[in-house]
Amino acid sequence: ATPTAVTVGIGRGAELGILIKNGEALEISEKLRTVVFDKTGTLTIGKPDVTSVTGFETDEKELISLAAGVEMQSEHPIGMAIVNRAKEQNIQPKPMEDFKSYAGGGVLAVSNGMQIYAGNRDFIANNGITITAETEEELLANEKRGRTAIIIAKEKSVIGVISIADMLKESTPAAIEEIKRLGLSVAMITGDNAITALSIADEAGIKQVYANVLPKDKATEVGRIREESSGMIAFVGDGINDAPALAEADVGIAVGSGTEVALESADIVLMRNNLLDVAASIELSNKVMSRIK
Ligand code: ADP
Ligand code: MG
Repeated sequence: ATPTAVTVGIGRGAELGILIKNGEALEISEKLRTVVFDKTGTLTIGKPDVTSVTGFETDEKELISLAAGVEMQSEHPIGMAIVNRAKEQNIQPKPMEDFKSYAGGGVLAVSNGMQIYAGNRDFIANNGITITAETEEELLANEKRGRTAIIIAKEKSVIGVISIADMLKESTPAAIEEIKRLGLSVAMITGDNAITALSIADEAGIKQVYANVLPKDKATEVGRIREESSGMIAFVGDGINDAPALAEADVGIAVGSGTEVALESADIVLMRNNLLDVAASIELSNKVMSRIK
């Protein structure tokens, strides 16, 4: 039978907007050592904006038109940011066909018989396109400021770089500090590149960073972090691409509105989109355990 303290804890959680789906999640607080956060949509707002557009021997409008064209069918927040930028500037996205999307890499499509690409270094290089020193310099300048820089290419040449900023949630730095105060280690995992990831982690107050993790590898990586750490781990995600990681962790915590899949895979769902509730959940669990003993 469920100990009364757990039932009381679940009730108290509900009052705080902390939906505890699995009572066992409240009982492992003593063994919990590490909290791993997903970056996009969890630590950050997840609705990025374009912050700079740099064309290489390509007019800025032409670059935006091609980039928005190839991103039109993408559901990724990066794609939406680029399409929004075109809309704001009244630039018509170039019509495209044969759209293909590579999770954790980028997108490609055909315009007027020419292949158009938008994505990160690996995606562009894997398509046989050379990344010049000039391109690399532009990427680094933006990444050091915590921005995600997307390379736009036409056939075999890079034609520009579009940078995107995804702001931290207001509650993020205080939430990380609170979790550390409770004696836990904090880590971040992301599909984004290491330089952008480190810059954002630094702003959030996180030192342990796992970057360049493809969506399909997130759950495996969470399992690996668990093996490396001395105790149990919690994974906090928004449910986009990370339902398997939520399920893999000892405690899966889904934040915000989330997706239905996340609601299914998580042990705890934070109904308010406030990361301070991660610390509140841990404290609630500590209280429950002290009452059980
Ligand atoms: P995250 O973990 O930050 O949600 P993803 O795994 O979804 O990241 O994507 C990782 C990286 O792949 C992005 O930072 C970006 O460089 C690239 N990428 C993914 N989707 C797109 C897209 N639609 N357009 C351009 N680049 C993309
Ligand atoms: Mg996410």
